[in-house]
Amino acid sequence: MHDGPGIITIAVIMNSGTDHPGKPAASPETRLEQVRQRIRDAEHRYERVPGSVRLLAVSKHVPASVLQQAMAGGQHCFGESYVQEALEKIALLDRTPPEWHFIGPVQSNKTRDIAEHFDWVHSVDRLKIARRLSEQRPPALPPLNVCLQINISGEQSKSGLSPGEVRKLADDIADLPRLRLRGLMALPARSRDFDAQFNVFCSVRDIFNDIVQHHPDMDTLSMGMSGDLEAAIAAGSTLIRIGTAIFGERGPR
Ligand SMILES: *Cc1c(COP(=O)(O)O)cnc(C)c1O
Repeated sequence: MHDGPGIITIAVIMNSGTDHPGKPAASPETRLEQVRQRIRDAEHRYERVPGSVRLLAVSKHVPASVLQQAMAGGQHCFGESYVQEALEKIALLDRTPPEWHFIGPVQSNKTRDIAEHFDWVHSVDRLKIARRLSEQRPPALPPLNVCLQINISGEQSKSGLSPGEVRKLADDIADLPRLRLRGLMALPARSRDFDAQFNVFCSVRDIFNDIVQHHPDMDTLSMGMSGDLEAAIAAGSTLIRIGTAIFGERGPR
């Protein structure tokens, strides 16, 4: 794996999220293609295997009709942060369902809806929640894929495990029959500085590399968003979660 960004700086972070007044907004298909190009460029630049980084389209506050456009453009997995909003879209798109990922904070009273309607949960950070998800996962469905969320920047306001808590929860979750531990998710404090972004992502990767020795089936490092996907890919991300660069700015986040 590439061991640092060296002297390369990312000169242009595409600002496709903000449309100029008077100009028609680019379609989700066009923006998806732009994001795919950024992924290919970063994989190449940082010596990652081509195609080793998955793109999750984060569709919170985006209507089902726009998700359909994205699906026409070849996007088949979506990330949602709010259960109620997601359930409406899941019902509307049930003819040809995409893969649904839950990426928001998980409340106890929402675990049944999540266990019944999603394929993945990226934001597990408590055993109590994990147990409920496992118990409530319908027998007819495959095990629910889960990532453990790490609070890597130590922000009080954010959910997630502290780095020292990850191993214990990973061990406990591995024993739950209806969950499949896939990896780690991080949502670092926002920074515009590539080196700062890169260093934080590397510390997440180091935790992953430690835990994967005990849980060799783990294959997912969910990190990187519209403003920092290059740094995340440089540090070893396998799944980036992109909202703004595909769907534009929208509502409170
Ligand atoms: C909204 C959100 C994203 C997408 O962020 P963008 O900056 O819009 O790409 C990714 N991950 C999580 C957990 C989010 O809530």
